[in-house]
Amino acid sequence: MRPSVLYPLFAPVSSIRGVGEKHARLLANIEAEKVADLLWHLPYAVNDRRRVSNVTRMKNGEINTVKIRVVEHTPPKNRKQPYTVWTEDDAGNMLALVFFKVYPESIAKNLPVGGERIVSGRAELFNGRWQMSHPDYIVTPENSALIPEIEPVYGLTAGITNKFVRRLTAAALAALPALPEWLEPHFKQQEKMPSFAEALNRAHHPQSVDDLSPLSPARRRLAYDELLANQLALALVREKAKKQSGRQIAGDGSLRRQVQAGLSFSLTDAQERVLKEIYADQASPWRMLRLLQGDVGSGKTVVALLAMLNAVECGAQAAIMAPTEILAKQHFDSIAPLTDKIGVKTALLTGKIKGKARKELLAELQNGKIDILVGTHALFTEDVAFADLACAVIDEQHRFGVRQRLGLADKGRRADVLVMTATPIPRTLVLTAFGDMEYSKIDELPAGRKPVDTRVMPLEKTSDVIAAVKRKIETGERVYWVCPLVEESEKTDLAAAEERYDILRKTFGADVGLIHGKMKEKEKDEIMERFKSGAIKLLVATTVIEVGVNVPEATVMIIEHAERFGLAQLHQLRGRVKRGAKPATCLLLYGYPLSATARARLNIMRETEDGFVIAEEDLKLRGGGEILGTRQSGGEQFLLARMPEHQPLLFTANKDARMVAAADPELASPRGQALRTLLYLFERNEAVKTYLAG
Ligand code: ADP
Ligand code: MG
Repeated sequence: MRPSVLYPLFAPVSSIRGVGEKHARLLANIEAEKVADLLWHLPYAVNDRRRVSNVTRMKNGEINTVKIRVVEHTPPKNRKQPYTVWTEDDAGNMLALVFFKVYPESIAKNLPVGGERIVSGRAELFNGRWQMSHPDYIVTPENSALIPEIEPVYGLTAGITNKFVRRLTAAALAALPALPEWLEPHFKQQEKMPSFAEALNRAHHPQSVDDLSPLSPARRRLAYDELLANQLALALVREKAKKQSGRQIAGDGSLRRQVQAGLSFSLTDAQERVLKEIYADQASPWRMLRLLQGDVGSGKTVVALLAMLNAVECGAQAAIMAPTEILAKQHFDSIAPLTDKIGVKTALLTGKIKGKARKELLAELQNGKIDILVGTHALFTEDVAFADLACAVIDEQHRFGVRQRLGLADKGRRADVLVMTATPIPRTLVLTAFGDMEYSKIDELPAGRKPVDTRVMPLEKTSDVIAAVKRKIETGERVYWVCPLVEESEKTDLAAAEERYDILRKTFGADVGLIHGKMKEKEKDEIMERFKSGAIKLLVATTVIEVGVNVPEATVMIIEHAERFGLAQLHQLRGRVKRGAKPATCLLLYGYPLSATARARLNIMRETEDGFVIAEEDLKLRGGGEILGTRQSGGEQFLLARMPEHQPLLFTANKDARMVAAADPELASPRGQALRTLLYLFERNEAVKTYLAG
């Protein structure tokens, strides 16, 4: 339950005096729905409203504050003209105050001739004359304190003014209850961090632009609090998972030996190493939660298969889940022939399998006749029950949510979980999305893989490209032609691909095929089959072939409008032609305009094939904030923490959280109690509840 001390912060914004339903609706546009949201809404700039001595000291085009005396009023002659109030400073320098569409009475009252006023607003020098239109502040000298010297500037939305947000954040700060300190005292002192309340107050009342920096003491403290909440939630989940003991999977190796003997290759050192790590996890009395990273083509599937067979050797079942039907089918097609030979039964379950076939399959699953189940998210359906699931493998995890990831494991009795990804995830993301998930890396490709000859060229060269494709096809090789990603909709993606297909057909006739996301699964499978068998030699595709599809004869990848793709996507696509023994080519065709970032991306593609380097560069190009905010990358949304600026704090928070989770997993100590408040404050309690309950 949420600690009652936090209630005021979780009240809706409309609980603040002067905030009506209409304001509340507008505030939702800046993600301010409850009082706490206002606290997290930090200013992004400051207005310097400190007074200058006279008009000539003002900065053109900027906000200035100056004392003047009213000389004369010139009301407008018609509705289009402004109302001008002529004023001067002590030295007699003139400043015109200009108003459009105002009531003359109110101006006469606020700016009486002969009266002294302090005005603050944006001033401009126009034909040698200073003017200020619609000053933000007009006050008498006695009331000068009403003008904030350094005024925070907030992100706004239509209908919400900066003054209004300032009033609201002031109200939110006033509602801030006294909270126990959750930071470890030595750490707080060493890092010179203010208290949580001090940090919030300072962050909302910056004294200079330095206070806006993510590295200011106030902002570091707030970022640390948020990161600590994130890391602590993950660490607690993990601690709990680790304690779910009792399952020790260590087969006699008989099935694994047979399968390995049947392979046409021997495992790479990297595969051997990660298998050792996985087997050790399986054999340990704790539940495995391991992330397996390996670049495209590094051979994750066989690693997964061997881990699953370890479970089968112990008389239990295993499952592997892929994000799409094609990929599930592909896993099935590569696994089933190997397992059939050794008397291990592998079955495929996708959304397409219905009725009687599905019923029979589920029955066999439940009575243990099926040893390995391959499937899509159809594996999550409630009626899918295993006799004894001991090992769950999740491929290409970034497509699945956290809930799904752990959901499959819940179908088993403390099933081990192996999460596989071909998209290298920078350590920052692993930490924020998974916490301390154990982590294995296949950092070596099977021997004999040649580098891909990657070339970047303008779209005008398309006719040369077509000629080159013709030569390749004549030597029996196969070619992918990926069509541009069009932002607006999938339909336009399709139109572009169809157009290209029509053009290529003129040269290649029946050798060219088309595959796209709008096709039925069966049609897609048929096309892929024909491409694999060589009936189709040139395959025009939208990005449906993005992940995992395996055709060893394909040696050329052409990507049209490559500048519209992200780095990770380009890397994945290029990986499609690295499967065989023949040297491969990747042509990145770009169109104009080519932004500096797009150019940088294409250059990185030409320079390296290392997925980890590419991921790091991608992170740099996109900026940490963005990647952390993108859902598809499995990232977490942070309100106060920013990457890369707060990365060192993330690592510290991770250590801190791990220590707490180990020493005080129930959060029972005084610091533990304070940390509990922190989890609720940053709404990480949900995560804890969901996973601790399981
Ligand atoms: P990914 O890691 O991208 O999922 P796969 O598991 O699909 O890669 O493997 C890609 C290809 O490499 C497959 O055809 C697989 O049989 C083959 N392969 C896997 N391991 C090795 C190895 N050690 N030596 C040679 N080929 C291998
Ligand atoms: Mg794969």
